[in-house]
Amino acid sequence: MENGSRHVLKPMDSEQLREYGHRVVDFIADYYKTIESFTVLSQVQPGYLHNLLPDSAPDHPETVEQVLDDVKTKILPGVTHWQSPNFFAYYPSNSSVAGFLGEMLSAGLGIVGFSWVTSPAATELEMIVLDWLAKLLNLPEHFLCKGNGGGVIQGSASEAILVVMIAARDKVLRSAGKNSLGKLVVYSSDQTHSALQKACQIAGIHPENCRVLKADSSTNYALRPELLQEAVSRDLEAGLIPFFLCGNVGTTSSAAVDPLAALGKIAKSNEIWFHVDAAYAGSACICPEYRQYIDGVETADSFNMNAHKWFLTNFDCSLLWVKDQHALTEALSTNPEFLKNKASQANLVVDYKDWQIPLGRRFRSLKLWMVLRLYGAETLKNYIRNHIKLAKDLEQLVSQDPNFEVITPRIFSLVCFRMVPIDDDENKCNSRNLELLEAVNSSGKLFISHTALSGKIVLRCAIGAPLTEEKHVKETWKVIQEKASYLLRK
Ligand code: PLP
Repeated sequence: MENGSRHVLKPMDSEQLREYGHRVVDFIADYYKTIESFTVLSQVQPGYLHNLLPDSAPDHPETVEQVLDDVKTKILPGVTHWQSPNFFAYYPSNSSVAGFLGEMLSAGLGIVGFSWVTSPAATELEMIVLDWLAKLLNLPEHFLCKGNGGGVIQGSASEAILVVMIAARDKVLRSAGKNSLGKLVVYSSDQTHSALQKACQIAGIHPENCRVLKADSSTNYALRPELLQEAVSRDLEAGLIPFFLCGNVGTTSSAAVDPLAALGKIAKSNEIWFHVDAAYAGSACICPEYRQYIDGVETADSFNMNAHKWFLTNFDCSLLWVKDQHALTEALSTNPEFLKNKASQANLVVDYKDWQIPLGRRFRSLKLWMVLRLYGAETLKNYIRNHIKLAKDLEQLVSQDPNFEVITPRIFSLVCFRMVPIDDDENKCNSRNLELLEAVNSSGKLFISHTALSGKIVLRCAIGAPLTEEKHVKETWKVIQEKASYLLRK
């Protein structure tokens, strides 16, 4: 668009979209082509952008070239490159051509699909692709949309935990009475993501009723069912109401896997809602050889995995399946006059607004559908297997170096390791590992993150960025070794 206020704004002009769209796609394609040349972890100082951008919005149109120029020179330095093949921090957040194009289609159509009637295809495609994925994961039939259950796309695993907790809370309060809120108890291992704590805070669960059960190296940081049973029995004796259990398949710190079947049995016999958080590792379970890690999921009331982590689907796309959709809708539905329509009133359709916190929702299933169709299940399985193989190789390299130790046996694509203590000095060892982390990440060549397990500072290398190949992992290990030798010589 040219400068000047004489021109009437045409915000969605097809020809402008075509022209600018090509330029933006070219820009992004070039970004991916040169992604390895960027400093992986942004090294800018807080507030850097304030000094580079004007204090107020422009009064008149600028060109797309001007904006892209600023993206290149001012924004990219403040970007941490999550899609870099040398990004190994936290857990991956995959982007792909299919996921990106799906996002584009969704943005292009610009619908808001809160009720079936607002875009029937959005609701129906979501139901279909969640069934497709449930079948790939070999989830029990009761999670499919044909019965009482079904799948829904949430923005995040945190939202997934919150909505199922609210469903479970309201279900139990309907029989126990509203005044029983202070008696409701939540259970999980201390390895569970902080999203559970946040859900408890929002759902009004009293902090003293959150049982954070200790998991340690004797079970590779999996929750021991005996601990759960003891805690539940104690709470029942005290007149409290056990109501929610969160089990993990692939914890954030070390990818630990809880024994779902044993936990589910305890949950079932005590009428506790059992949620399984497989935000990261769920993707691996589409491979028959990793499906065993969700054995016992048939005892769960809800199950979640983030397709936006390790399944090539651009953020955000968190998949949640529930056994009883009515528990969700009874807790979350509203029916204002301005949203009434024939299909909803006749109960003929799913209205996903009643399965989530916000009203509005994007057409997110398009990108998952694109990923499944453009890649196919077999390619996706091999994609996962390749990352796991790279992680296995790295685990071996770490274990061969006497300066290092692997801290927990690797199951998926996360390697947890550290520099070994010298003279049994654990405090010094923790400081040295933090120094190593800083040295490695400030090199700009790669980005790994850390955690603490039983008081030990542990370095985490999570392999799963779409562009990561063997050479990147080898080079990463070389940088880590070099920085470690420097620290040991100091
Ligand atoms: N659960 C696990 C195991 C995770 O690793 C994470 C994030 O890494 C979460 C939950 C929270 O995910 P989200 O950002 O989708 O809320």
